Amino acid sequence: MTRSTYPDVEIPAESVYELLFADLDEADLDRIALVDGTSGDETSYRQLIAQIDALAGALAARGLAVGDTVGILCPNVPDFATVFHGVLRAGGTATTINSLYTVGEIANQLTSADAHWLFTLSPLLPQAAEAARAVGIADDHLVVIDGAEGHPSLRDLLFDRAAPPEVHFDPATHLAVLPYSSGTTGHPKGVMLTHRNLVANVLQSEQVIPLGRDDRALAVLPFFHIYGLTVLLNFALMKRAALVTMPKFDLAEFLRIASTHGCTWLFIAPPIAVALAKHPLVDDYDLSGVDVIFSGAAPLDGELARAVADRIGCTVCQGYGMTEASPVTHAIPVDRPDIDRSSIGLALPNTECRVVDPASGLAVRVPRKGPSAPGELLVRGPQVMRGYLRDEESTAHALDRDGWLHTGDIATVDRDGVYAIVDRLKELIKYKGYQVAPAVLEAVLLTHPDVVDAAVIGIDDDDGQEVPKAFVVRRSEAEIDEEIVMAYVAERVAGHEKVRMVEFIEVIPKSTSGKILRKDLRSKVGRHAAVG
Ligand code: AMP
Repeated sequence: MTRSTYPDVEIPAESVYELLFADLDEADLDRIALVDGTSGDETSYRQLIAQIDALAGALAARGLAVGDTVGILCPNVPDFATVFHGVLRAGGTATTINSLYTVGEIANQLTSADAHWLFTLSPLLPQAAEAARAVGIADDHLVVIDGAEGHPSLRDLLFDRAAPPEVHFDPATHLAVLPYSSGTTGHPKGVMLTHRNLVANVLQSEQVIPLGRDDRALAVLPFFHIYGLTVLLNFALMKRAALVTMPKFDLAEFLRIASTHGCTWLFIAPPIAVALAKHPLVDDYDLSGVDVIFSGAAPLDGELARAVADRIGCTVCQGYGMTEASPVTHAIPVDRPDIDRSSIGLALPNTECRVVDPASGLAVRVPRKGPSAPGELLVRGPQVMRGYLRDEESTAHALDRDGWLHTGDIATVDRDGVYAIVDRLKELIKYKGYQVAPAVLEAVLLTHPDVVDAAVIGIDDDDGQEVPKAFVVRRSEAEIDEEIVMAYVAERVAGHEKVRMVEFIEVIPKSTSGKILRKDLRSKVGRHAAVG
């Protein structure tokens, strides 16, 4: 077992609101907290806090009680910060929903999370309204942030001018957020993250991410995903930096916003690094103000990181984590140019790690020089979730009795405490940093009358990015081809979950207990899936 090489940080028994917004001085209150990258509109910390307080007051006055869950289905706009922190300030729990989800997926999450409120933005109202109707959320509890006929808007709630409620809860156990993750296997599950989990992860991250008051962070990573939520919506605001929001990735718009708004930090996922390294458009924009590009959510190739650093003229770092760990557990510190960019760097403070042989469960030996043999990475620390919502079996599978989170990722570690992810044990696929659960796609494929059996794995495309590939056993006289299969799935899942390659095979390899042998499928493809 290895403890972080950093000294522990103290984690106060505070709520997220108390940590982030309780002690701003006059100068900080006048700083810019949020910039709408599209319109250029700015929100100061003073305005943001006033809105958070007013929303918390309105929600409490309209019946939201401590412990109630609120769905947020919204792309990255400045009001997301008000809604998220307003819900937490009122003692509610936010379940953040992927804005690319289908109606069925939205409804599933709302039901599973037992949400009785939903906040959305008008472009997403059609699917939000249908899902809300399906789960019985009333029109007056479906808040359309920017306004729509028949629903309250965020402004309506703020105009209630209700004082924020006095709420009491234990930050160590009270749920702040309930994001959904498929974990190592199966369908998405509610990940129970407490105020303490988030407070801890923000303070732990502070040691490796030197973001400061004069920084502007480009917020393109979705706030609904734990990476954007913790690192941008919580951490960057605690550091009094400005968040420049962008609702959807588009390279030209990304470059325009980064240069015109003077962004100093770009938080990205690896596919954006590919564009930054290769696309000719990058040369048309002045990115000389960018100091650091920080990549996470999926493996970043070391060569690619170097290419981006050389082209943009900045530091490129990589972090690692998972929803179940709030999410950050490892990162390359900005002031450590000696650490290999293809690694995930050092464990954060207060974080313990073990790299164990998956078969024996014994810790791998760390040689005096060079990396250890690969093994499953286990982590333990104050940022690790309470468990999966109402799912003891999955919780016991992910969190052992001693509190170790089994990441399902294969890592190496060296004597300096530098970790690298070299493979993935679990079935999860990361497409452009988004989670894709093979179980969800397999279930869809099996509903096709001509599909007898199916299995889905992630494989690397020509840019080294992971894409979902389906292996399909078709009925003997069936005439379906790859295109038909892909179109069938595409009609039933969100855009990022599409199957992008299909191969017909005779039989899906399975263990005697009926488990799909994904490793056999991977070796069939002849390429490793999800290798960093
Ligand atoms: P999520 O819960 O959506 O954040 O997904 C977590 C998973 O993404 C991890 O368990 C890894 O499989 C993968 N992941 C995240 N960051 C990295 C990274 N820097 N390198 C390799 N895999 C990563």
